[in-house]
Amino acid sequence: MTVLSDLLAVQTTDIEISQAKHRVTHLQETIDRDAAKRALAEIETQIAHCDAEVTSASAEITKVDRLSHEHDDKLVKLNKQLKTVIAPREAEALQHEIATVTAERSALDDRELELMGVVEAAELKKSELAPLHVSAKSVLASATMALSSAKQKIDAEIAALLEQRSAQSLVVPASLLSTYEAKRKHRPDGAVCKLTGPTCGSCHLDISQGEINAMRAMPDSDFPECPHCGSFIVF
Ligand SMILES: [Zn+2]
Repeated sequence: MTVLSDLLAVQTTDIEISQAKHRVTHLQETIDRDAAKRALAEIETQIAHCDAEVTSASAEITKVDRLSHEHDDKLVKLNKQLKTVIAPREAEALQHEIATVTAERSALDDRELELMGVVEAAELKKSELAPLHVSAKSVLASATMALSSAKQKIDAEIAALLEQRSAQSLVVPASLLSTYEAKRKHRPDGAVCKLTGPTCGSCHLDISQGEINAMRAMPDSDFPECPHCGSFIVF
């Protein structure tokens, strides 16, 4: 029955391979890398928001400048006109128009100041974000490297285990190995086991002493199985 001991060794390696594969998909390094990615994206979103504010405010400043010039030209024209009119009603109307254009001109100045404040605040925010951006990029680079090295380590482990597995399975007859594979589909960690006292190592149910004696008496060509779960039993 040493063949079953060999099979048990194959199963031990198979369990280690599954555990290593599970570890690859549940690495703390992946969680850290994802967090670093999110942190960087958040900062880049804020920078893009600042840029958009600067662009939009600058475009409006250009427009306000143009309007201001138009108003200035208009005021020059109106003031010239005012010097030439004689009729008091006409002069009054012109004065009223001059007052309106002057008020509009002043509102444009206020708006330009306001927009310059927006640009200044956005530029300040951007300069504050710059060092955070640099450090978030470097955190992400380190996290990516840490993840890749952690993965490489486990990949090497898995490669070594697979090699070990193929060496171990060489001594197990192909038909037994395929029965084992079929049993493993239902019970990945318990297709073959040892007894602990009368207890099956796979399903943890007790096997009667009579059945155990019968199994022990089996010829080497027969492979004893747990009457409850069908796991091969290694004595
Ligand atoms: Zn069992």
